[in-house]
Amino acid sequence: MSTPIDTLTPVLTDNWGTERSWTLAAYEAQGGYRALHKALAMEPAAVVETVKASNLRGRGGAGFPTGMKWGFIPQDNPNPTYLVVNADESEPGTCKDTPLMMATPHTLVEGVIISAYAIRASHAFIYVRGEILHVIRRLQRAVQEAYLAGHLGADIHGSGYSLELVVHAGAGAYICGEETALLDSLEGRRGQPRLRPPFPAVAGLYASPTVINNVESIASVPSIIDRGAEWFASMGTEKSKGYGIFSLSGHVTNPGQFEAPLGITLRELIELAGGMRQGHELKFWTPGGSSTPLLTAEHLDVPLDFEGVAGVGSMLGTRALQLFDETTCVVRAVLRWTEFYKHESCGKCTPCREGTWWLVQTLANLEQGKGSESDLDLLDDVCDNILGRSFCALGDGATSPITSSVQHFRDEYLAHLSHGGCPFDREASTVFA
Ligand code: SF4
Repeated sequence: MSTPIDTLTPVLTDNWGTERSWTLAAYEAQGGYRALHKALAMEPAAVVETVKASNLRGRGGAGFPTGMKWGFIPQDNPNPTYLVVNADESEPGTCKDTPLMMATPHTLVEGVIISAYAIRASHAFIYVRGEILHVIRRLQRAVQEAYLAGHLGADIHGSGYSLELVVHAGAGAYICGEETALLDSLEGRRGQPRLRPPFPAVAGLYASPTVINNVESIASVPSIIDRGAEWFASMGTEKSKGYGIFSLSGHVTNPGQFEAPLGITLRELIELAGGMRQGHELKFWTPGGSSTPLLTAEHLDVPLDFEGVAGVGSMLGTRALQLFDETTCVVRAVLRWTEFYKHESCGKCTPCREGTWWLVQTLANLEQGKGSESDLDLLDDVCDNILGRSFCALGDGATSPITSSVQHFRDEYLAHLSHGGCPFDREASTVFA
């Protein structure tokens, strides 16, 4: 069952329209840092239990229960424990963490302090994508304000708890959104995924116990502590609780971020966004960025929760909904995404490093009307040799748009061959033109 539109509950986005919403004064005027005081009066274990009871699942795409992840931190490890926030948002179409950090960076800072307290970490890091300098500066300013107000530093509000928070700028590699590559990068090395086990909870940053969470997951913690686990769990669906930020882009009248309970449908979100571009109809869409298998207009009423999207062969991912109408050439769109994966492949493993190169060559040929129908079998074969054989999820993700587009739009691939090139009028489409 999807959630009706009238139950929308903006939480993270509620104050985005407030004047100078990014300042400490504006945040505190809206009740900001109230949850921190409440958390500091609780035992750290009680904070973990509250987050567990809320059933908050990781908002970075994987959907792993956040409280359970915190519970994996060993209590008897002599090394320090670290909290790392993954703010390396780079997936094509994904634009939820960046606007959140720009509009209300203190939501994230407060979430970091509470979460670090819960796992007994005295150092925390926010690893931000290197290209978004404006976000880095805004976060740094928010952290500075939090120090000056006594929300960070030594003996926070006389609680005896101390925390140092560092905003770290990455160097622009998509692979550093993979949590172990992020840790390598944070340690000053070239970012490449690590072999697991050991898992970061046991040997993460500087070989010490480390929790790595997405921006939206951590930013959700203050409201859970403030309003309670039951409040959070009362929203969403049976196994996907709470709310999330859905980013709509592409051929929709009013693209942007829409915060809604998990389980809302794309049909409802399109209605909220003012409908598709006037006079046009939905052709295909990604539920969670370009790494998730494409869906079509047949899937407009699928509940957008972890189980609902998996039930139709795709993934909820980052809820980056990219919408394309009938003017868009699916082969060209998929070629663009595959060029991205080829460029961003870190080169550590052969299936991804070599496979993405072959995928681009084959797709480019097909898009130009060269080659033959057997190239579709070649695409299938190369994807089959990447999927499940790559070192990390980047390789698997690169195959998703290809296999799903061939499944749904095989005739369109063949039309490029019979037409001797792309049959679409590029002037008519506003994306991938
Ligand atoms: Fe690197 Fe790609 Fe292998 Fe991941 S799958 S380790 S990105 S080469």
